[in-house]
Amino acid sequence: MTEIKAFTIEELRGALAAMGEKPFRAGQIFKWLHLPVASFDEMTDLSKDLRAQLAGQFLLTVPRVERKQVSAVDGTMKYLWQLHDGDCVESVLMRYRHGNTACVSTQVGCRMGCAFCASGVSGLKRNLSAGEILDQILFMQADSGLPVSNIVLMGSGEPLDNYENVVNFIRIVSCPEGICIGQRHISLSTSGIADRIEALAGERFQLTLSISLHAPDDESRSAMMPVNRSYPVARLLRACEYYFDQTGRRVSYEYAMARGVSDRPWQAEKLARLLRGRPSHVNLIPLNPVKESCLLPSTRESVWRFQQILEQGGVTATVRRRLGPDIDAACGQLRRRRLKEGESL
Ligand code: SAH
Ligand code: SF4
Repeated sequence: MTEIKAFTIEELRGALAAMGEKPFRAGQIFKWLHLPVASFDEMTDLSKDLRAQLAGQFLLTVPRVERKQVSAVDGTMKYLWQLHDGDCVESVLMRYRHGNTACVSTQVGCRMGCAFCASGVSGLKRNLSAGEILDQILFMQADSGLPVSNIVLMGSGEPLDNYENVVNFIRIVSCPEGICIGQRHISLSTSGIADRIEALAGERFQLTLSISLHAPDDESRSAMMPVNRSYPVARLLRACEYYFDQTGRRVSYEYAMARGVSDRPWQAEKLARLLRGRPSHVNLIPLNPVKESCLLPSTRESVWRFQQILEQGGVTATVRRRLGPDIDAACGQLRRRRLKEGESL
């Protein structure tokens, strides 16, 4: 059955026209689809007949809260959702002074196989639809009572490995007739599929592209991230330059620091040389230890030293605070734990 929340408003108009409905119905239904309704019967300003027709033709996805954790330290909320087919994904709601940020998943699992990441351990189960990505935001807002003003595509999954659905999600979530979150308030994080970055540049979205770089040299990066064997650092940075040229948006680089692997001073110097003169920003974060990996977080001292070298080299870098340190914070950890407990997901 076709998922109705995966439609952009134009696609919904087309689908309704095919059913013989008037164009204004699309706006009316689109509004309902952006509220956390559990069935077409809740769409009370539609005729009973139309509601029944919609229910017969379209699937209305409604995720169920499978597990929820709230950080006692900073109020970060982590949700594990059960989807309509029993699969599970997680999302996080982070509370900042300037608003609430939703971190959402784009796939069930991930096939990129990064050595430090819990999401990739059991590979890719399936892609999420645009509607299932949107649902995480709608239902976190409903459950928490907190409005979401920013979105980061940094949950489980590689967004650019689910390109069509993610691009549709961005169109839907930033659409004025829906929840209308401005594209400048959306960040897409990628492990670096260079040709998809170039395709994304062509969409001319105003979102922030965030590259999970984690190492500046091919040897260390390939050891941490297999994707680097297909798209080495120089190729990736060329794609980032193209992205900036096409969109005018500064690219940001995530750098999870692994002790003795990616935190050495020469690597900071190399990174500074690579990024100097490019409109960019580096976020440093000590690697979050996950059980499945033998990589360890860098010490605070080496993070600071790394930052200093970058700044001296003319590259701006921030050391990121870890949110929700008392809950399973790293991406993929909550689902991973449930998988291990052997409960049906
Ligand atoms: N697949 C995309 C987006 C999801 S991962 C990507 O890789 O960019 C979101 C971010 O969390 C990425 O920057 C990823 O590298 C980082 N990450 C994953 N596991 C981590 C860990 N154990 N410690 C620190 N960062 C981690
Ligand atoms: Fe996938 Fe991102 Fe995890 Fe790598 S870091 S395995 S790309 S989710």
